[in-house]
Amino acid sequence: MPKLSTRITGIMPSGKDGWEVHFAALARKQAGEPILMLSVGDHDFDTPEGTVEAGVEALRKGHHHYIQLAGLPRLRTGLAKLSTQCTGVETAPEEIIVTQGGQGALFGACQALLDQGDHAIIIAPFYATYPGTIRAAGGTFTEVLALAENGFEPDPKDIEAAIQPNTRMLLINSPNNPTGTVYSRKTIEAIADIAKRHDLWVVSDEVYWTLAAGREHISPRSISGMKERTLVVNSLSKSHGMTGWRLGWLTAPEEVIRYLTNLNIVSSYGMADFISHAAAEAVEKGHGVEEIAERYKARRKIFMDALKGANNISIRGSEGAMYVMVDVSAVEPDAETFAWGLLEAEQVAAMPGTSFGEAAQGHLRFSMCQEEEVLKEAAQRVRRFAENYV
Ligand code: PLP
Repeated sequence: MPKLSTRITGIMPSGKDGWEVHFAALARKQAGEPILMLSVGDHDFDTPEGTVEAGVEALRKGHHHYIQLAGLPRLRTGLAKLSTQCTGVETAPEEIIVTQGGQGALFGACQALLDQGDHAIIIAPFYATYPGTIRAAGGTFTEVLALAENGFEPDPKDIEAAIQPNTRMLLINSPNNPTGTVYSRKTIEAIADIAKRHDLWVVSDEVYWTLAAGREHISPRSISGMKERTLVVNSLSKSHGMTGWRLGWLTAPEEVIRYLTNLNIVSSYGMADFISHAAAEAVEKGHGVEEIAERYKARRKIFMDALKGANNISIRGSEGAMYVMVDVSAVEPDAETFAWGLLEAEQVAAMPGTSFGEAAQGHLRFSMCQEEEVLKEAAQRVRRFAENYV
């Protein structure tokens, strides 16, 4: 075979992505073993009925064609309103581009901001695709550790210390995957201050903004002087129960949106027509949003209550998103060893924290994408496993 580009072979240099426990558990589940899958961040329920109906109707009405490259105008208008709500800043449709999920928005943001060899700062633990998305844009990155003892909020001093002459962007994520942490106003303001003083972009991944569980969601875009240097990654996947529809968006200054529209010409050629119509309806009517937020709030509480008081286990972060981060380092410093052991002994699948960077060593991420009874049972098994750990 002739040589492949280093751009493509370099996206995942180790060939490993830390998801081995999940894939092994999934294979065993598919082979019929009764594994409790708490490793994946995808809803256990289907997309709300109103959105499904809108999709079927859009297909029947003949929405089968190419659409505007930055997104269906009706959808951009709806997303601009949603973005205004999410970020607290009045947003125009021209500041929105519709993307293939939040991941498409992240990909676009990195393509727009990074030249070959440019540097980004990410906060660990981080969502597993961040390193590869930066590498795919030719960038390099430094991980700033957000420590468990600080509730997984980063220390702004550490962010500032990681800045290099070629640093272009800070990538942050609140509510956070994997920790569930919702960043305080103080942290967001300090990050904004650093970005302004060092003339950096902030890419703010806010795909879990509706799942802040009563905490205040603060977007850096709302801080004075930040609108012109902030790109907000967003998605209907989690908020509207639409992971498989691949519908996300980026909120950014108009000029960035215009360049990203050019990128769409040579990449996706825009989004699917009927999906965009269904998404517009989902956004306008808010199908499922409140119910989904309530459901995850209740599930997190049930899981955390069932673990409360267990020997050898403590819970960190976890105010928001759809995850609970559990500290098992008192019995096993190596999260992967613990995760494999838990799968073998108790048939519970969780993600070792190391899948999200070294800062989450000694921790496991449990996803709340299961019915309450399953979560209770899983918590009992985790408890038993940790209490009898040898
Ligand atoms: N950002 C974070 C923090 C996520 O957890 C995810 C998905 O799990 C995404 C982005 C990607 O979202 P989407 O499924 O809409 O591409």
